[in-house]
Amino acid sequence: MRAEFVAGIRDNARRDRIIADEDNIVVEEAAFRSHALWGTAGSLTPKSFSKTIHEDMEWLYNQRLVKSVKGRSIWERILKLGGEKCPLCHIAKSRTLDHSIPKAVHPRLSVEPMNLVPACRDCNLERNVGRGNMSLSPYFDRWAADLRWLVATVPNPQHPEDLIFAPERHGDLSDQRWESLTAFFEDTDLGSRYTNLAVDEFFPLRAALRSSFGGPPPIDDVEAVLSERHIAWRDQLGHNRWQTAAYEAWFQTARVIPW
Ligand SMILES: [Zn+2]
Repeated sequence: MRAEFVAGIRDNARRDRIIADEDNIVVEEAAFRSHALWGTAGSLTPKSFSKTIHEDMEWLYNQRLVKSVKGRSIWERILKLGGEKCPLCHIAKSRTLDHSIPKAVHPRLSVEPMNLVPACRDCNLERNVGRGNMSLSPYFDRWAADLRWLVATVPNPQHPEDLIFAPERHGDLSDQRWESLTAFFEDTDLGSRYTNLAVDEFFPLRAALRSSFGGPPPIDDVEAVLSERHIAWRDQLGHNRWQTAAYEAWFQTARVIPW
């Protein structure tokens, strides 16, 4: 834990409590970092902490990291590390820092920079109401970006806009990785957020196809367009993005969809 988070706390009782707990905080932060580097942060055992520890660490995060001048510059540096888009959903801009292992689950990791992940407001909010599972970190769980796991399906070809998105298990995913992945997917509510985006994508797509052929388009042309877009999204964004999965699903069911 950085010294500037503790220095100059005016509330003596709080300062003494935090200083008395500092060794524990440092030990747990170090344990988290080494787990994170080995990709095993998901296996950290949940513990219970006293109400005072929860309150003090919440206070430390809000008052010394988010709201203090020195802390805020660290907060903003971490925010910028995530790049332009939220690294959790890739939908919106990152405007918040999300605790990869939530404060409510592990308060002593509240101000550990490696536990702070840039996130959009929706992801942060969804994860707050989620089950607080040990979750994926976009920094350390690189396998989640490299392995293919996101799949979309068309349950009813009469409503091809209503896609269902879900993680799919492949042989390369261990039990632990699969558990983190499904917990992450559910906690961030990615499935229904992607479904909404696909609805907004489908109708203009069908309208454009119809207008370019002056009516229902020939199926071979539809397939060619869908395949081309699927490959373009896959090459540009990778496998695990809703656009890639959506165009693949529409391509695979193109012949039973009323265009
Ligand atoms: Zn997000």
